[in-house]
Amino acid sequence: MRTPLVIGNWKMNGTLASARALASDVAAALPQLAGVEMAVCPPFVHVPAVAAALSGSALALGAQNLCEFEPGAYTGEVAAEMLLELGVRWVLVGHSERRALFGDSNERVLAKLRRAVACGLTPVLCVGETLAERQAGHTETVVDAQLDAVLNASDAEALLPALVVAYEPVWAIGTGETASPEQAQDVHRYIRARLAARAPTLAAQMRLLYGGSVKASNAQALFAMPDIDGGLIGGAALKAEEFIAIGLAARARLAA
Ligand code: PEP
Repeated sequence: MRTPLVIGNWKMNGTLASARALASDVAAALPQLAGVEMAVCPPFVHVPAVAAALSGSALALGAQNLCEFEPGAYTGEVAAEMLLELGVRWVLVGHSERRALFGDSNERVLAKLRRAVACGLTPVLCVGETLAERQAGHTETVVDAQLDAVLNASDAEALLPALVVAYEPVWAIGTGETASPEQAQDVHRYIRARLAARAPTLAAQMRLLYGGSVKASNAQALFAMPDIDGGLIGGAALKAEEFIAIGLAARARLAA
């Protein structure tokens, strides 16, 4: 059984005070969420405060991005080593907002994955198609290209065991429109099959998350699907109660 995993992506939201409070409120609920791995990804500048608020808690700390280069002259960037030093364990790589707005190409995504894995961070590789790509019937082609950037890398064998993949259809991110459980399962099944063609044992063990307007009200149906091992949650992760309810929905997988 793959351990259910729920990760909150706070994006560029909140204040120091609200970040601390949100982290503490979620951490306080963790005893109800035994068996589910939970993590939050605050904005970089809030990471130290959230790390302090989480001290002694099993709620893990993640980051939303990292630099693809080793520490050095890269103004405005944050190195994997710096994140690790702050207690960060997870890192999002290739989020659609980074791909669309900040030029994170498949090549850069691969470089970031390499840095994350080299430093012992667990990367969450985000993949997914836009609405136009889905409507043109290109979902699998787009996801293939995003996955192949890693699967065809010369060091794929070193990268894959560390990886979690999040399928996030771009049309469902922050729009309130969620993929139906069946639509999401279809792509998750496809992703697992693609991974299995390269590394069968690993593919069976790898956690695949769904992201895109997951809420407490739709999480359970999504997480009931056989290949959906949890969620990457944006907007709903900003409300402790909602995020905890999503964690509880993931917990229901344990009883299935
Ligand atoms: C995300 O940012 O990864 C995300 C899935 O956002 P939302 O849940 O708000 O759609």
